[in-house]
Amino acid sequence: MDNYMNLKNSHPCFGGNKINKGRIHLPVSPSCNIACKFCDRKFNETEDRPGVAKAILKEEEAIETIRRALQLCPEISVAGIAGPGDTLASPHALNTFRTLAVEFPDLLKCMSTNGLLLYEMAEEIITVGIDSLTVTVNAVDPVIEANLCSGISYHGRFYEGEEGAAILITNQLKGIRKVASSGITVKVNTVLVPGINDEHIEAIAKAVSEAGASIYNIIPLIPQHALKAAKAPGCAEIERARQQAGKYIDVFRHCQRCRADAVGIPGVKEYAEQIYFGKLTAK
Ligand code: SF4
Ligand code: SF4
Repeated sequence: MDNYMNLKNSHPCFGGNKINKGRIHLPVSPSCNIACKFCDRKFNETEDRPGVAKAILKEEEAIETIRRALQLCPEISVAGIAGPGDTLASPHALNTFRTLAVEFPDLLKCMSTNGLLLYEMAEEIITVGIDSLTVTVNAVDPVIEANLCSGISYHGRFYEGEEGAAILITNQLKGIRKVASSGITVKVNTVLVPGINDEHIEAIAKAVSEAGASIYNIIPLIPQHALKAAKAPGCAEIERARQQAGKYIDVFRHCQRCRADAVGIPGVKEYAEQIYFGKLTAK
């Protein structure tokens, strides 16, 4: 069975949400190397969205945390790292996955990244044995991307606006091509922002599909930070974007925009409170 088919059967979210499969997100990645205008990373127990965790988990706490989570929720089939920062901006995510491969060889390993360092770190990702990689690509045109990301920190320099956006997009597409050609399933997330990238969805879906991505997930904007005055897309706008993307690539429809420390069965039962909230101290 190829990797994408295996994920459709075993991952709680691929191929539609399953009520008998769960995931644990390990919030081990503290920092980020780009500046998305809608990003508002926070440490709390209350907000149910990406970029939020109770605290950063240390690499060495991951194994014990998964053991406890599996006792509470034996349905967990996936260990994922989705922040709260970027997984490639610091070594913690890949180090953690290396340990998991030894301790929990049966758990699927999922990782999310903004893709800035994806091309140069692709070999390492492939060697570590990630099963599913999510890359957030919000535009494939630097003029549009510059309206969504104010700049990038790259090899010791900060590149603003379109200059930074062009480097980011090039690295994302080259990185997707390299990782996908190794057999790892690549999912692409796009944050849909009305008035900025809503007329650009077809172009993104076409480009990432040509680069080898298997599935595309449209995430409605949560208006915050520099885009707090922007409008969140409504159901009709999301559906239209999905239909446009669907001309080029499979579309993922069930994402619940989980926290960076989510634990449990998405949409059914969450255990972050028992696993993370009592134990960690916010940094
Ligand atoms: Fe925030 Fe993620 Fe963008 Fe980094 S890549 S700025 S963590 S939304
Ligand atoms: Fe699944 Fe979306 Fe949650 Fe990731 S963020 S575990 S894809 S529901």
